[in-house]
Amino acid sequence: MQNPLTMQMADRQLPDFQAIRPEHVLPAIEDLLKNYHRGIEAWLQSGSSADWSLVESEVAWADALNRAWSPVSHLNSVADNEHLRKVYNAGLERLTEHESWRQQHAGIFQAYRQLRQSEKYSALSPVQQRIIELELRDFHLAGVDLSDKDQEAYRNLVMRLSKLGSKFSENLIDATQAWTLHVEDSTRLAGLPVAELNLLEGIAKNHGQSGWMIDLSAPSFQAVMTHADDARLRCEVYTAYVTRASDEGPSAGQWDNMPLIVEMLSLRHQLAQLLGFDNYVEYALARRMAESPRMVLEFLEQLAKQARPPARKQFSTLQEFAESRGAAIPLEAWDIAYWSERYRQAELHLSDEELKPYFSLDPMLEALFFTAGELFGLTLEPDTRVPAWHPDVRFYWVLDCDGKRFAGLYMDLYSRKNKRGGAWMDVCCSRRILESGVQLPVAYLTCNFAPPTGQQPCLMTHDDVQTLFHEFGHCLHHLLTEVDWPQVNGINGVEWDAVELPSQLLENWCWEEEILSRFARHYQDDTQMPGDLKDRLLRSREFQKALFLVRQLEYAICDIRLHLEYNPNEPENPLDLLAQVRSEVSVVPVPSWNRFLNSFGHIFGGGYAAGYYSYLWAEQLAADAWGRFREEGPLGTGPGEALRREILSVGSSRPAMDSFIAFRGRPPEPRPLLQSYGLSGEPCTRLDQRRAQS
Ligand SMILES: [Zn+2]
Repeated sequence: MQNPLTMQMADRQLPDFQAIRPEHVLPAIEDLLKNYHRGIEAWLQSGSSADWSLVESEVAWADALNRAWSPVSHLNSVADNEHLRKVYNAGLERLTEHESWRQQHAGIFQAYRQLRQSEKYSALSPVQQRIIELELRDFHLAGVDLSDKDQEAYRNLVMRLSKLGSKFSENLIDATQAWTLHVEDSTRLAGLPVAELNLLEGIAKNHGQSGWMIDLSAPSFQAVMTHADDARLRCEVYTAYVTRASDEGPSAGQWDNMPLIVEMLSLRHQLAQLLGFDNYVEYALARRMAESPRMVLEFLEQLAKQARPPARKQFSTLQEFAESRGAAIPLEAWDIAYWSERYRQAELHLSDEELKPYFSLDPMLEALFFTAGELFGLTLEPDTRVPAWHPDVRFYWVLDCDGKRFAGLYMDLYSRKNKRGGAWMDVCCSRRILESGVQLPVAYLTCNFAPPTGQQPCLMTHDDVQTLFHEFGHCLHHLLTEVDWPQVNGINGVEWDAVELPSQLLENWCWEEEILSRFARHYQDDTQMPGDLKDRLLRSREFQKALFLVRQLEYAICDIRLHLEYNPNEPENPLDLLAQVRSEVSVVPVPSWNRFLNSFGHIFGGGYAAGYYSYLWAEQLAADAWGRFREEGPLGTGPGEALRREILSVGSSRPAMDSFIAFRGRPPEPRPLLQSYGLSGEPCTRLDQRRAQS
């Protein structure tokens, strides 16, 4: 049987999506895994001294696997069916086993270490040396260089932590699903817009009920918090939501996550110490751009110091507004989202329906390609002959200023059945030098915009437009690479507190005057967006941002300090630490029975332990990088070329901090981030200033 998943390797072809069938998946993966394992064993048995050829062979084996797996994993996300899902899950299990085999392989580790210590090392290029260094770092973090006894302890810790993390998530899911509120009297839901009412009606239907039902899923919770006029209803839902999996609230004690949190903090500390770190934050930062716990904490605390006064001011403005509309003051925790939305409507009266006719898809793609052309001299050339998985998919070759092809991009932009929701970028294949020539980098850009109808093109919200620019930024990072080794090119291996830099940076252009006036035109009569509408849109970007920022800071500081200040001899009650951080950072009331930590899935159920700061960190990088475009011109080729040369083209072939400094001429500063929120150290936002003046 000819297998399209392995055939494409031979001549650097793009995946033949129309030929790939579920029955091709497992044979291809098994073949390629066997090939990898045999290759390694043969190399180790040959007794040859370690040299670069081992690295090169590993690249070839791993690349073959990635090229076969990438279309499978992509199809599983965008064209799901039962048969495919089954083989996908089986394949994923095999690959996970393989990765852990590779990462724990003492023989491969020894070979890399030998190479590092031999004379051959100094003859390698800086990029090759970095690849060796990163491999050795990862082997160390996987515990391969520990004594047998410590390795066993390491494995036990990792296993127990993974169990605790799963249990944490299960408790949270169970507690979330255990609570619902059936509403039969529609007057209780006064204030909810039709779409939100439909959502709650759907939930009731799923439970076999008439009327409406509120549950604790995020959309349902947000619908009530943002829109329900009834403060008692908001309080009831808020209470159930913020006490999930804890010792408080309607299911108090039933799925309490606190004992798990306490044990996880202790085990993470032990794990870090076993690997030679002082604490878990230090361990987590070994793979990140931020260089030390001190650096992270100073960054967060400096932001908090500057954001708190304007946040206070924004909150008091909000209270004044609420009071003028008859609300009882002080506002409670469950009043804030509701009154924020009222205030936002009164100030900006922005609606998606008013904006969408100005953001139709094709002109927005033109805007995107125009930006890429101005900044980097790129052209995107559509090619309808490339096989795809659905007729709506577009494929583009990316051409450099000399007209030469150097990358490829799939865009799959409309929502449809059997396609995962949300927006993301993924790697199809990475740049590599082969005997037959260069294997070009190719990426997938996936969104879920409303498809066109008979009468209307695809009309987008401005959020959608921003998402498109964001994902395109990730794609550029992958496609503009000039490094020939897949371990460190494109987005591969980039420190994950830096990986959002290109994407968040690109978002700025969809707010730019020149882009909006050129491309944001009414789809029916090509008229420009009215000045007043544009003005309200631009002001919405900074609206009440200080309040948002201090909330993010509260989470990030709490996460870092829980892991940094952990003392095994006298473990502090995590709730005390949370209360302390709140008293230092928060500006809005939080009830003492709020058990936010018990549902903080990012750091106890997901991969963000000692990493929540990275959202703000990446925003800082993007805002600071954008500062250079503001200084030299947003569509200037000077900063565009520098961005490409110093950041986009180098991938992780050098530390992200070095790349940033090369681009900006200095390490990142938080001031531009504050400015992007309209908080340049002045006491209040631009919006509030405008009000004060009028
Ligand atoms: Zn992103």
